[in-house]
Amino acid sequence: MASSTFIRRARLVPVRTPVASDAPVDIRIADGVVTEVAPRLQPGPDDLVVDADGRWAIPGLWDQHVHMSLWAQTRARIDVSAATCTADVTRIISDHVQALPRPWQGGALLGFGFRTATWPTQPTVAELDAVSGHHPVILSSGDVHTGWLNSKALALLGIPPRDTQVREAEWFDLQPAITQLSAASQDTDSLVRVAVEEAAAMGVVGIVDFEMAPGHREWPQRFDAGIDRLRVRPVTYATALDEVVAAGLWTGRQLTESTDLLTMGPLKIFSDGSLNTRTAHCCQPYADAHDLEYPRGQQIYDRAELTDLVSRGAAAGLHIALHAIGDAAVDQALSAFEATHARGSIEHAQLIRFEDITRMNALGIRASVQPAHLLDDREVTIKCWPDRTDRCFALRSMLDGGVQLVLGSDAPVSVLDPRLAMAAAVHRGRDGDDPWNPAESLTPAEALAASTDGQPTIRVGNRGDVVLLDEDPLQRTDTTAEAARTLRNLGVAATITAGRITHLAL
Ligand SMILES: [Zn+2]
Repeated sequence: MASSTFIRRARLVPVRTPVASDAPVDIRIADGVVTEVAPRLQPGPDDLVVDADGRWAIPGLWDQHVHMSLWAQTRARIDVSAATCTADVTRIISDHVQALPRPWQGGALLGFGFRTATWPTQPTVAELDAVSGHHPVILSSGDVHTGWLNSKALALLGIPPRDTQVREAEWFDLQPAITQLSAASQDTDSLVRVAVEEAAAMGVVGIVDFEMAPGHREWPQRFDAGIDRLRVRPVTYATALDEVVAAGLWTGRQLTESTDLLTMGPLKIFSDGSLNTRTAHCCQPYADAHDLEYPRGQQIYDRAELTDLVSRGAAAGLHIALHAIGDAAVDQALSAFEATHARGSIEHAQLIRFEDITRMNALGIRASVQPAHLLDDREVTIKCWPDRTDRCFALRSMLDGGVQLVLGSDAPVSVLDPRLAMAAAVHRGRDGDDPWNPAESLTPAEALAASTDGQPTIRVGNRGDVVLLDEDPLQRTDTTAEAARTLRNLGVAATITAGRITHLAL
């Protein structure tokens, strides 16, 4: 008999389905699948034995929306996320430039994390030029939909001189060249290797990777190089659709012979922009629409174009991950799903009309949401969408309306940590803050159920994914703040993916 992984004395946490008894059980995983769950089993002679010692077992956490290369690289970039005005950023860049040793003088500087929607003035190229010396400087906004570049960087990337930021499609088109620039100093794959190990240490067993570079080509190489501790579903964008279709890569198809951990993800399509760049497409104008080029945000495709793209993907067997942040974008996305009968998800669904929840449920379209964004977007929502805050991050309404929720981070927009996503879904505020629109809170059990990629309480036939927690994630608490604190601080003693130990801190 082939060896298996044997987990001794774990307490099962109920996920969707109840648990018969809270007495510890033993769990056997063979050939990547849970094959036995019962008290007092015997390990085989060659089994790898993990003693849970009464710890709590869940089916393993997923982050359903990650930009993996960008997340990995971002942590090696200049952090400008704490800035509350232009001068804060220019001070950080100026200090950084002056502290650089001589051999680094003149190299491109990359930074990440600014959010201008609540700043008193919008930053200009000239302000960045004034502090950046000989360096090309490329700063990405925290929502990744805007770039703030200095003149040297604009020239380096072949953009005509200007004094404003670079947004949406024009900015996205620059990403491959920017990745090249950062790859010159940092090897992306070695950063990804570290990021994958860290994810496993947080109890993550799988991600959907929304990176813009063609993941169906990059990830098989990474798995060959041993970056293989997570289940990965890379998406494709429309730019690579023809190639993906020609290769016969439908959603769910294995991308390499050697492992079933790596499978093709959905086709990602943008229907609108983002809130912080104020390009999310809305039914009503933004409250600060007077200084906006697009007062209701930006629609990326007209109806016919979007429907055509969705049906091309669906015809090739691809699910569709349709990015829609504003309520008009959600409406348009649902119309495209209705017209094509495509399967898939709305990514973000940050602002939604309640009547569209009924349509989503009828279509069986998932909501792939990022609860931690509500921590960052609370102020900007109050400024830009004061008349519709009750329809933002409407997680409870979607769940009660029959819509399947799955949680993610959109890392690097928020950190890749499903514990943080669950905590934000439950408390809807930072520790110490009152919850924002608490009627839309999820319970810890609901947040956990939205974080396991549909896997129920550990039982025979489950994927061989088990995470051992030091605390009960569903323990009784008096307040949502306390429940969120428990979730955020969950200790992860072991992560096991398809029967393989990917993290151990026992
Ligand atoms: Zn994203």
